[in-house]
Amino acid sequence: MTVHNPLSTRITTINNGDTDGWDLFRRARDMKRAGHPVIELTIGEHDIRTAAPILREMHQAAIGGNTGYADIPGSDELRDTIARRIQSNTGVATSRDNILVTAGGQAALFAAHHAVCDEGDKALYVDPYYATYTGTIRSVGANPVAVYAQPEDGFQLKRSALEAQAQGARSLLINTPNNPTGVVYSRETIQDIAEVCKAHGLWLISDEVYDTQIWEGTHISPRQIEGMAERTMVVGSMSKSHAMTGSRVGWVCGPAHAIARIEDLLTYTNYGIAGYIQDAANYALQLGKDFEDQIGAPFKRRRAIVEELLAGQNIVRAVPMQGAMYAMLDIRATGMSGEEFADALLDEKFVAVMPGESFGTSSAGHVRVALTVDDVAFRSAFETLLSFAAERA
Ligand code: PLP
Repeated sequence: MTVHNPLSTRITTINNGDTDGWDLFRRARDMKRAGHPVIELTIGEHDIRTAAPILREMHQAAIGGNTGYADIPGSDELRDTIARRIQSNTGVATSRDNILVTAGGQAALFAAHHAVCDEGDKALYVDPYYATYTGTIRSVGANPVAVYAQPEDGFQLKRSALEAQAQGARSLLINTPNNPTGVVYSRETIQDIAEVCKAHGLWLISDEVYDTQIWEGTHISPRQIEGMAERTMVVGSMSKSHAMTGSRVGWVCGPAHAIARIEDLLTYTNYGIAGYIQDAANYALQLGKDFEDQIGAPFKRRRAIVEELLAGQNIVRAVPMQGAMYAMLDIRATGMSGEEFADALLDEKFVAVMPGESFGTSSAGHVRVALTVDDVAFRSAFETLLSFAAERA
């Protein structure tokens, strides 16, 4: 037997012994590889690839020589473009000194928590949550503590739930438009969050990677609430808004003094993001809102399909589908858990959806449907899901 040197507690406890919640996704992939006709409505990735003009820009930048070490905080041009975009969307004065370019939103989530949390700090996150949140918090040595958003509140985070946990916490991580629920936080929710953060001295880490995909309501960045710019780190990304998931480019936007410190972390991790990727991201952002709407349009169409098909039955109920690329469905009327429903739907009907339990406790009895296959296949899979629910109810 080989005896290994022990690894750090930090690395061996990143997942806290839990599964990462993606078992169903992996099972669906295995079944597909084995030749089963599985329709995957699991992972949050577009069914289109990065647009050709963005790739041409990337190619030209690389051929033109932008292949050396890039400036660690990101190029001035890209940071200026991101800052202008944020300022014009929110009205908050923003310059390149507020922006660091990161390897996607995920690295921005890590960097922001690294910047505000010390070892053992209580770091709040909202359940249901995007799969990487607890691991990200643990990976900086902090202690993830859930604040629960409830289905009966349409998964809007309630002030009382937050206040109950805010004492002694260092940070709060929120996500609107939300993955997995598809909910957009209302002005009242954002206002409540801001007030609790100010009252308890919390840093707010605001994951806004779906901010271009709003179907109902208005996206309000909490950084624009009075007194919040100096305590908020906004996480942004090109992944969802521009279908650039594989390019790994995103950003943190925060107070200049904090951004200057996080630059030190980037020196010891990525050492900058590839220059030709940054040039492509800068080009993509100049394509403006029309292009972003074009990327979001398929999800908007499929959301309409969900609404149309749901109207013809009364077993499955949808959480308000306000943004992002998901429908969160309440399937409790079938008497099944989200896991039982998703497992049986995959095994019997070859439709793969994510159990709500994969995203926390509050979304038990739900399944998350990613709106990420073409409209015809999507309609057919969704009809299958509804008739399956009707059989089981
Ligand atoms: N935040 C949320 C809520 C997400 O859903 C995702 C990806 O699915 C990310 C962050 C990370 O995205 P990326 O690292 O590709 O920017």
